[in-house]
Amino acid sequence: MKPSGLPAVADQLSLAPYAARDATSRGRRHPEAAPNYRSEYQRDRDRIIHSTAFRRLMYKTQVFIYDEGDLYRTRLTHSLEVAQIARSVAVALRLNEPLTEAIALAHDLGHTPFGHAGQDALNAAMQAFGGFEHNLQSLRVVDLLEEKYADFPGLNLTFETREGILKHCSLDHARKLGDVGRRFLEKLQPGLEAQLANLADEIAYNNHDVDDGLRAGLINQEQLMQIALFREHYLAVSARYPGLTPRRLVHETVRRMINDLITDLIEHSRARIEAVDPAGSEEVRSLPRPLIAFSDGMQARSLELARFLRAQLYHHPQVQRMTQRATRIVAELFHVYGNDPGQLPQAFAAAARDGEGHGGTASLARVVADYIAGMTDRYAEREYRRLTGKAEPSTDAAETA
Ligand code: MG
Repeated sequence: MKPSGLPAVADQLSLAPYAARDATSRGRRHPEAAPNYRSEYQRDRDRIIHSTAFRRLMYKTQVFIYDEGDLYRTRLTHSLEVAQIARSVAVALRLNEPLTEAIALAHDLGHTPFGHAGQDALNAAMQAFGGFEHNLQSLRVVDLLEEKYADFPGLNLTFETREGILKHCSLDHARKLGDVGRRFLEKLQPGLEAQLANLADEIAYNNHDVDDGLRAGLINQEQLMQIALFREHYLAVSARYPGLTPRRLVHETVRRMINDLITDLIEHSRARIEAVDPAGSEEVRSLPRPLIAFSDGMQARSLELARFLRAQLYHHPQVQRMTQRATRIVAELFHVYGNDPGQLPQAFAAAARDGEGHGGTASLARVVADYIAGMTDRYAEREYRRLTGKAEPSTDAAETA
């Protein structure tokens, strides 16, 4: 906790020259007076936490759907873990901690229900209308879709937070996005806080998916022993604490893996920053490669773990069955609303009718996509039952129980 009354001042004093700061921010789309007792990025973070989209993350799937167990990560707990990891590194590198936290908390706001299955189904349904991409949708949520403030649509976040949210984007979309799209066209880097939030996301999901995957019994220790990062720490913990219960053994291993990744990230990034010695955050953007990075050795280990999880966990038959079911729910919802916009809530139906809503970019398809993307898993299931009269999209429903 920082002493009250001085947060913005304290932040500026401890920042490295290459960190983002209020004084050099490119500002907000709709100009606002500076906050009295917070920095601009603290205000961004606070707006994100108070947003509706943020609360919905609680009931959105990360990998396991919400009713498979109360202990699995959801998008909300995932986002909190990303923020926690990112903040630790930000402080160690004297980057702007509230900006890093804001980006981390907002990075998944545009995610559909049912994880990547929902995103793929919505993208397929939207092919003729510009597609659907969760990253772009996160930006759409904070720029347009949140309806909270009297003076502007969305959350009116700073350029730096919005830049961090838009991790990647096609050149086609980049051309239409203006300021935050430019770096993709000009091949520039984002600020260091954005680079960091991106890697904190990777550290968080790789490690919590090991934990969740083991808990669910979809992967096991024997398989993970092929993965260097896991094997090394697992063997060290087993040797140091013989007879440790399996749950504590796994947690102790995963916590050491996270610590190893974070330590490498801090030390390697610090060395890269020192070698370049950037004068400010603008110089960071014009470099040919990011400054926040793992060492080559750790990058390879992280990649090995990610590949293992893709093959063994995300493509596990049990996860795939959930995926197929989610795909059918999302596809059918899109079809039903598209054919009968009267089924949409009034504000969305009105936006679809006049084509002017949601920042003037609305077509019926985009409005339907916005609506479905905003749903929680359980709300999507309820709407599916209400609109189709069917309890289950899947013929092998009994099997998935
Ligand atoms: Mg994420």
